[in-house]
Amino acid sequence: MNEIFPKGSAWIDGKFVKLADAKISILDWGFLRSDATYDVVHVWKGRFFRLDKHIDRFFESAKKLRMPCQMDRSELKKILAGCVEKAQLESAYVEMIQTRGISPNFVRDPRLATPRVMAFAVPFGWILKQEDFEKGLDVLLTDIKRIPPSSVDPTIKNYHWMDLVTGMLNAYEKGNDTAVLVDENNNITEGPGFNLFCINETGIFTPEHGVLEGITRQSVFDLAKELNLPIMTKSISVKELYSAGELFATSTAGGIMPITRVSGQEIGKGSVGSLTRQLHKLYWEKHSDDSWSTSITDILSNK
Ligand code: PLP
Repeated sequence: MNEIFPKGSAWIDGKFVKLADAKISILDWGFLRSDATYDVVHVWKGRFFRLDKHIDRFFESAKKLRMPCQMDRSELKKILAGCVEKAQLESAYVEMIQTRGISPNFVRDPRLATPRVMAFAVPFGWILKQEDFEKGLDVLLTDIKRIPPSSVDPTIKNYHWMDLVTGMLNAYEKGNDTAVLVDENNNITEGPGFNLFCINETGIFTPEHGVLEGITRQSVFDLAKELNLPIMTKSISVKELYSAGELFATSTAGGIMPITRVSGQEIGKGSVGSLTRQLHKLYWEKHSDDSWSTSITDILSNK
């Protein structure tokens, strides 16, 4: 039987509960208006990866939404680690959420609502499964435009996913793995849950604007510097996408993932490129490095 709830654990209303018992009111602005922010950090073999960077982005997003998070960093870390411990997961996908909350008597003023924080941990999930790494992602370049940044600031991690979900549906209907969306000027933006990188003979590129500033995207900059590879942000046209030597997607849900086909056309040789392979290897090596990762046990024992 297909279970609705995966193995996991949640924290809501001040306590740890089973996933099935983690519920919010239908009057919460987070549900009625997508008025919420969230972040997702992963745990790999008992260690959070770049936890402080995810918490920084979460606090920054909440501030930009004019509902600064009232919880302090160490308390939040304990809650996140607690969710993983209670779920008994070695490797996990850990989500922290802050919604606007409920406003008294359903008044229309968001300032009167009381924001609330919740969190949950579920097993680690992949946009591209490990066993499919050599095959790479086969993406659809959809004509769906990403919501413009002048409407919804994409640097605030948000649930305004109608454009991304439409892209996914288009992709699945055509037999692709996932979708890539363009902006109003037909430049490449991002996909459902991932940033995009393009490699040509002059270097490694990723769009500067109109995207979430992914933590994995930042990791690629840090890794490329370590490897002395030229990397920069710049706009990427559709033509540049198709003519790239290598393409890859980055996400907490799977790390650095090669893209070998776009809308049926092979990228480069249609196989995983050597720079993608090099960055991917170093990315996973960093998961046991103390300056990139934190042990769950250390957080729970106040170290
Ligand atoms: N872009 C969007 C729209 C996302 O939702 C995500 C992650 O969920 C990303 C990019 C990748 O960000 P990160 O590397 O922080 O997971």
